[in-house]
Amino acid sequence: LNLETLMELDERKDHLEINDKRKMKEIEKLQQTPTNLICQRCYDLKHQSKLINYKGTVPSNYAGSPVLLADFVQNMDRKEIVARLTKQMYAKSIIIKVIDITNFEGSQIQEIYDEVNKKKHRLILVVNKIDALPSGFTIDRLHKWVKDQVHDKISEHIKYNICLASAKAATGINKVMSIMETIKKEFSPDAYLPKVYVVGCTNSGKSSFINALIYKSNKYKDPNKIHYKQKYNILTESPMPGTTLELISADDVRLGFKFFDTPGIPNLQQASAFVEDYQDLITLLPNKQLISYPVNLKQGYTVFLGALARVDLLSGEDKQFTFFVPPHVTIHRTPILRAEEVYNKQAGYLLRPTYNANPQDTEFQRHELALNCNDYKLANFDISIEGLGWFSVQGKGFCNMMLHLPQGVAYHIRQDSL
Ligand code: GDP
Repeated sequence: LNLETLMELDERKDHLEINDKRKMKEIEKLQQTPTNLICQRCYDLKHQSKLINYKGTVPSNYAGSPVLLADFVQNMDRKEIVARLTKQMYAKSIIIKVIDITNFEGSQIQEIYDEVNKKKHRLILVVNKIDALPSGFTIDRLHKWVKDQVHDKISEHIKYNICLASAKAATGINKVMSIMETIKKEFSPDAYLPKVYVVGCTNSGKSSFINALIYKSNKYKDPNKIHYKQKYNILTESPMPGTTLELISADDVRLGFKFFDTPGIPNLQQASAFVEDYQDLITLLPNKQLISYPVNLKQGYTVFLGALARVDLLSGEDKQFTFFVPPHVTIHRTPILRAEEVYNKQAGYLLRPTYNANPQDTEFQRHELALNCNDYKLANFDISIEGLGWFSVQGKGFCNMMLHLPQGVAYHIRQDSL
């Protein structure tokens, strides 16, 4: 029985012939069905880490094959996904763009800003996963920082809001809801159920956010009185990229909006896109708070971030580095002279996670960074590595650093530290 049949039968059950035993049996079965019924694909995603790609083809030997995960991500056609998505969006809708605060640059999608600017959508930037930040970040400071980062991407004619949120802890959800209510009033009265597209990169938390909005906002009063069909509108949340294949609508008459979960836009230049093993990949998702790990670094020393990245302080005065990475990423300091030997011996052991089962096969590219910490503006800056985390550098005087990342992994220098 598929879901549609089950729901249709349930709706029609009062009109069934009494002797229609087979259907009655099906209905009884239906009534015993747990409310968290999910389709086979979502089940596979949640429990067996299996994957079906957005074109609907099944990499049948996926489960347990580490190579396919990286291949799968690399084969996702970002341009095509964005084009398909924007083509399907009605003009003058509400766009909720979910940004993962732990991967800020990695969860930007310029095409979405372009689309908003062109079609005059109303934009709400939901900065998600704030629960994963270590203590010490204030809401006001975060808000201002985010605004400074996105300001020049959004046309001056576009109204937008920034909401700091956590889908996991259900914080910021009511604020988003009240902004949506205000926008609804601004829209023409015939906008009975304004369309709300929840967009973002894969794993930014779109599905979790919609679920939180629908089920945890103040508007969600009595779980038992919820309309039958809506019991099934729980979207699959998964650490796997590419969970959502098409626009999935979750009409919510109670909330007065028609929500669309959208296929995640893949980011192919983040460290996590290169990680081949599923278990390693999930250690990079900040389900727990990031650690903030201070390291005093002298010239001639290097720091490993698992076997995923390495930063050398080539020259300059001592600096205070603080690394913000998921808790399973090991941080290890060693003299540059010993770095290669340590990597060859410890990648996969002391240095975890790794990109693949044979870390010696990973080819790292070097990026030389010359930063002058005498300049006040650069006295405290961050370097972020997409899909891994970031580190702040504090201290006086110039410094030359060497960042080692696989080719294709993007990094950013934030003049204004988070
Ligand atoms: P989507 O691919 O954008 O739909 O993202 P999902 O909703 O499937 O979430 C991706 C991963 O991020 C899952 O492992 C979620 O548990 C996790 N996640 C989502 N929202 C939050 C949040 O607010 N805080 C934290 N710490 N993790 C989150």
